[in-house]
Parts: sequence; C-alpha cells; structure tokens
Amino acid sequence: MTEYATDVLVVGGGPAATWAALKAAEAGARVVLADKGYCGTSGATAAGGTGVWYVPPEPAAREAARASREGLGGYLADRRWMARVLDETYDRMNELAVQGRYPFPSGPDGQPLRGGLQGPEYMRRMRIRIRRAGVRVLDHSPVTELLTDADGAVAGAAGYRRQVRESYRVRAGAVVLATGGCAFLSGALGTNTNTGDGALFAAEAGAELSGMEFSNAYGIAPEGTSVTKTAFYSFATFYREDGEVLQGAASQGGRSVIARELLTGAKVYARLDRADEPARAAMRLAQPNFFLTFDRLGIDPFTDRFAVTLLAEGTVRGTGGIRITGDDCATGVGGPLSSGGGGPPPRVLGGGAARRGRHNTRWRA
Ligand SMILES: Cc1cc2nc3c(=O)[nH]c(=O)nc-3n(C[C@H](O)[C@H](O)[C@H](O)COP(=O)(O)OP(=O)(O)OC[C@H]3O[C@@H](n4cnc5c(N)ncnc54)[C@H](O)[C@@H]3O)c2cc1C
Repeated sequence: MTEYATDVLVVGGGPAATWAALKAAEAGARVVLADKGYCGTSGATAAGGTGVWYVPPEPAAREAARASREGLGGYLADRRWMARVLDETYDRMNELAVQGRYPFPSGPDGQPLRGGLQGPEYMRRMRIRIRRAGVRVLDHSPVTELLTDADGAVAGAAGYRRQVRESYRVRAGAVVLATGGCAFLSGALGTNTNTGDGALFAAEAGAELSGMEFSNAYGIAPEGTSVTKTAFYSFATFYREDGEVLQGAASQGGRSVIARELLTGAKVYARLDRADEPARAAMRLAQPNFFLTFDRLGIDPFTDRFAVTLLAEGTVRGTGGIRITGDDCATGVGGPLSSGGGGPPPRVLGGGAARRGRHNTRWRA
C-alpha cells in the first residue's frame, strides 16, 4: 500500500480531469491525478475528433448559439450556465492555441478555426501540460472507492496500481471526479474505461444524479466496428436488407426506426449518398478516423451500402451525471467533492439534447 497526501486529487485522465488538474496546479495546489488508463490516450476524447462550442464573444453570435440548443433541450437549459460555458470555452480554446501550442488550422481568410480538436493531439498536449505544471500522474491506477472521514466528508480515495500490482490511498483536501460518462462496455470507441465509476462513487458518498433519463443515447456504427460518428450519418439513406429504403430512419429523429428494425433480427444498411463532393472532402478533413474503418474494410461509404449497428453511449454523449449544486461544481456531499466529468448537466444542455457534441467538450474545459 502506497500512501499519498495532496491538496487536490483528480480522478480520471480525460479532458475534464486534465483541465481540472492543470488549473489547480497553476493555482499553487499539490495535485495527484489518478487514471484508470494511460492519461493522454484514455477516455472518449483521446480516441476521436471532437467539435467544440467555440463562439466569439459577439452578443448576436452568442445569442444564436444559445437559441440553437434550447429547443433541442426542451427549454430546460439555464441561460446563465450556457453563457458561462460559452465564455469558458472561448478562453480555454484560445489558451490551448497559445500556451498549449495546439496546431489549429486556418480558414481561407487566414483566421484560425478553433471549433474542432483532434483528440489524440489534444490529449497528448494536455498530458504534457499537466506534467510540466507539476501534477503527479498515476497511470493505470483505477480508483476503486472514495474515503470519508468520521463525519462522512470525502477525504480522499483508494485504488489499485495495476502495473506494479499495489494498492494505494490518497488523502486529499479536495477530490474532483472526472471519470467520464458511462457507456458500460458497449464497445463504442474510446469508452472502454467509461464504466460510470465516478457516478457510483458519488452516489455511494450521498450525491444525487441528474438528467439520467436523457442518457440513453445510441450511436450508429458500421456493423462489427466501434466508430460511432453519428453526425456524418445525417448524409445517409438507410435501407432494408432487400434494398428498399427504410422509411423514417435517420441519424437525427429516426434512430428508433433503425433500432426497431434491428430488434427484429433484420439488418439495416446505410450509404452516405446525400453528401456532395465538397461535403465528402470536408468530412475526410474534419474526421479522418471516421474513414479508417471503411478504408480498412474496403468500403466506400458514399457509394457502397454497408450494414450498421447501434452502440450505447449512455452518459458519454448524454446529458446526465452527478448533480452539481453550485457554480464551483460542488456536489452537495460533505467534504469538497466536485464533478467535472460525465455528461454536461441539464443546466447546460436541457433535456434530451444528447447525441451532439461541442457542448460536451466545453463542459470538460
Ligand atoms: C463517437 C463520439 C463522438 C463524440 N463527439 C463529440 C464532439 O464532437 N464534441 C463533444 O463535445 N463531445 C463529443 N463526444 C463526447 C466527449 O468525448 C466526452 O464528453 C468527453 O470525452 C468527456 O470527457 P471526460 O474527461 O469527462 O471523460 P473521458 O474523456 O471519457 O475520460 C474519462 C477518464 O476517466 C478515467 N477513469 C474512468 N474510471 C476511472 C476510475 N475508476 N479511476 C480512475 N480513472 C478512471 C478514464 O480512464 C478516462 O481517462 C463524443 C463522444 C463519442 C463517443
């Protein structure tokens, strides 16, 4: 058993965890970050490309951004929280460009495009940044339970260092839970460590969950594969086995039709035949990992029909997670336990606005 004592323990190793660790270290705190996997490659962001809710601070643009989400979220979102999130996103992405030297591309007008990130590069840089800031990183060291003091206040956590086969315990002045969403072993890319541990720890410590009824998202993937880049399926037509168009099936607003068909045991096929040439080129540029699967399988997704499946993404792209009780993301549990991971709260997205990114990345930052 190794014992550590620190000011802040961050549980997790994705964007939520690394930003929390970085900011705590920059504020002068001693920080330990414990990741179930290898920080920089683990979690849902590290495996893919991600869109970001990056909107310049112009009132009209910000208003349009908020309005664009409210209807989707059943008007349950809190405008003040949306505004906080937009402010923070803008600042953190600019910080990532300058201090983090993230190589954002430029548009035809020479202006930088900061609305998207390549996960592997992003998280590689975040790892470097937290190490430089003095954060002690425990890789392959899943936390298994929170520790509480005699009054029931959270005072640290216990875990297991898999590579050295040793238990460990961290006594901490504050604990940040950033263990990501829960897609419980669904096979969606990057989510193999997203088994909802933080939500469980928090619930065990007495925290409440919120918005979980909006966390039943399923992503579309080519059958037998793991890449659920559902946005691109807005260009798809879906077909039955006999080649007939599956009426009502769609990426947005028609996924239940696909689910019902799959539940009968029949196959469902897709073809991205509604993408024109410029869209096809833009898609390849924006999300190269989406095409890796197809290239390996020898499928041209724009001209070939391919079988699809649905993979649970739970709270990874859903709205639910640990209920936060204050602007500082406190959880209401005794002791300074706060949440930065899991799904963004309904305050930011409203209900049911899962399944589309940008706001998720933002919530992490
Ligand atoms: C296909 C797909 C596309 C997406 N596209 C977008 C998008 O375009 N825009 C967007 O904003 N969002 C998108 N998302 C959602 C986004 O990936 C997540 O919201 C984001 O990764 C969550 O960040 P996180 O730091 O909370 O969790 P993660 O990045 O999932 O990291 C969780 C971390 O916690 C660690 N962990 C788990 N359990 C433990 C434990 N017990 N002890 C220690 N560590 C633990 C894991 O190893 C991992 O390092 C997408 C998700 C998917 C699956």
